[in-house]
Amino acid sequence: KPKATRNRLPVIPHGIEEQVFVDALGELGKQLGVENVERNDKPLTDGWYMEHPNTHDLMAVVDEEELVPSAMVYPGSTEEVQQVVLWANKYHIPIFPISMGRNLGYGGAAPRVRGSVLVDLGRRMNKILDISAQDYTCLVEPGVSFFALYEAVKEKGYDHLWVDVPDVGGGSIIGNTVDRGVGYTPYGDHWACHSGLEVVLPTGEVIRTGMGALPGNNTWQTFPYGFGPYSDGIFSQSNFGIVTKMGMTLMPNPGGYESFMYTFQKEEDLDQVIEIIRPLRIGNILENVAQLRHVTQSIAVIGRPRSDFYKGDGTIPADVVHSIVSNFPMGDHSWIYYGMSYGPKHIRQYKLDIIDAEFKKVPGARRIDPATLPADEYFWARDRIAAGVPDIQELRWVNWMPNGAHIAFSPVSPIRGADATRLFELARRRHDQFGIDLFPAFCVGLREMHLIVELVYDRADPRKRRDVLDCLRHLVDDAAACGYGEYRTHLVLMDQVAGTYSWNDGALLKFHEKLKDALDPNGIMAPGRCGIWPKQYRGRGWEM
Ligand code: ADP
Repeated sequence: KPKATRNRLPVIPHGIEEQVFVDALGELGKQLGVENVERNDKPLTDGWYMEHPNTHDLMAVVDEEELVPSAMVYPGSTEEVQQVVLWANKYHIPIFPISMGRNLGYGGAAPRVRGSVLVDLGRRMNKILDISAQDYTCLVEPGVSFFALYEAVKEKGYDHLWVDVPDVGGGSIIGNTVDRGVGYTPYGDHWACHSGLEVVLPTGEVIRTGMGALPGNNTWQTFPYGFGPYSDGIFSQSNFGIVTKMGMTLMPNPGGYESFMYTFQKEEDLDQVIEIIRPLRIGNILENVAQLRHVTQSIAVIGRPRSDFYKGDGTIPADVVHSIVSNFPMGDHSWIYYGMSYGPKHIRQYKLDIIDAEFKKVPGARRIDPATLPADEYFWARDRIAAGVPDIQELRWVNWMPNGAHIAFSPVSPIRGADATRLFELARRRHDQFGIDLFPAFCVGLREMHLIVELVYDRADPRKRRDVLDCLRHLVDDAAACGYGEYRTHLVLMDQVAGTYSWNDGALLKFHEKLKDALDPNGIMAPGRCGIWPKQYRGRGWEM
C-alpha cells in the first residue's frame, strides 16, 4: 500500500557534481533513449511484491533513504549493457545491476552504495531465448521470472519439462541463481543447475563461460565447464560482472508426485528428527530440499496479524502458541516437515514407507493426511512449489506485523541434531532478548542444511527496525563464534558476514579484493556487494 510521501533531496553519486551528473545522464539517454534513463527524484512508493519499487528497498531495515540509487537505467541488449558500463568508467560512477529486484529480505532492488546508478536489466531484457525440449534446458535473459518460464513451458505443451521454483515465484531466474537462492524440487540448488553464462565485465568486454566460448557449439546449456578454469563461480554473490544470459537445466517430469507432511510434538524432538533426516536425505529417499518448520510460523502463514492472536510485547509465549494451534487441522505440534516424493505410485510408495517408518520412531510423530486439509492450507503452497509450480502464498506471514517486512538469519550447518539444536537455541536466546517472534525453518540440502530464521518487523517503526538489526548482528557473531556462516545475506550485513569468513588473516577476502582490482580498475561495479570493496573505497569508512 502506498504510504505518506515526503519531499526528497536529490540523490547524486558521491564525488561528482550534480550538473556533471545530469549531463552524464543526458549523454547516456542519447545512447539508450531518454525514456530508459530515469532519475530517482520522485517520492518513494512501496507498492508490494508484484509491483515492487526499483527506487529503494521495499523492506528497508535502515532508513530507506540510506540505500537508494541516484538513477535507474534500462538497457535493452548486451550491447547497451556494455555502453552503460563504459559510461560508468568514463565518469567513475558506481553502478549496481539487478535483474528484477524482487530480492526481498536481502535488499530488494537497492544498491549497496547510496547514489549508485541502478542497472535494471529486467525491464527490457526479458526474453526466453530458448527452451530445448530435447536437452531439457533453457537460456534466459535477466527479466525472465520463474512464473514466466513456467508459463512458457506450459504454453508450448512441454509436459515433460519441469521448472524448479523458489518459495516466491515472481523473482528473476538469473537474479535468484547468481545470489545462490534455492528451490524445492530435486533441482533446488539453482546455482548447481545452471549451465553457461554471458557476462559483461566491469571494463565492458563480453565473455561467455563454459562451452559458450566455443564458436558454433551446441553444448552451452548441457556441459557447464568447457575447458580451463571454471570461472562461473566468481560471478555469483560478487561484483565482478553483469550476467546478461544464463543457461538453466530443467527437470524431467518425474511421472507422478505426492506431498507429505509430518508433525512432531515436542520442541526437543528437533535433535532426533534431524538425525533421522540426514541418512534419508543423503540417500535420496527424501528427494527434495525439504523444510522443517517451527509451529509459530504455522500461525503466521495464515496471513492474519499477530494482534489477532496476542497483544502483549516481547516474544509470543509458547503456551499461547500451542493453544492457538491446537485448533488447527494438523493439531498441536512443535515442528512440521514438508516433503515430496517423486515418481509413479509404486516407486513413491517404496520411499514413503521407509520415511513413515523412520519418522514414526519419534514418539508422538503424526503423518497428516492431506485429504483432511482445506484448499487454502499452507501445505498446498508447499505442494505446488515442490512440484515446480510458482506461488506467492509464502508471503502471507509478512502480515504478522503492520507494515510487515522481513530479513533473514541463514546459517549453514551439517544435518546433525546437535547443530540444529545449538543454532535453534542460539536464535531463541537472541529473539527473547530483543522480544522478536522466532520463525525458524530448516531447509535440508543434500549434505548440509540452511537454517532460515525470518525476522518479521514493522518497517515504519525505527525502533523495531533497530532491534531487528541489532538482533541479527548478534546472531551472525554468535553463530560465527560456533563455526557457522551465513549462505547469503542482506546488503547491510554483507561486511559483517564477509568478515566472519576470516581464516588465515582474511586470505579469502584479500583474494577477492585482488580479483576486484584486476577486473574493475575504476571500482564502478556494485562496490561493497558481498563485502568486496574496490581499492578506491577500502579503508575509507564505507563498511557497515
Ligand atoms: P530477484 O528479482 O530474482 O529476487 P534480483 O534481481 O534482486 O533478484 O537479484 C538479486 C541480487 O543479485 C541483486 O541485488 C544483484 O546484486 C545480483 N544480480 C541480479 N542479477 C544480476 C545480474 N544479471 N548480473 C549481476 N548481478 C546480478
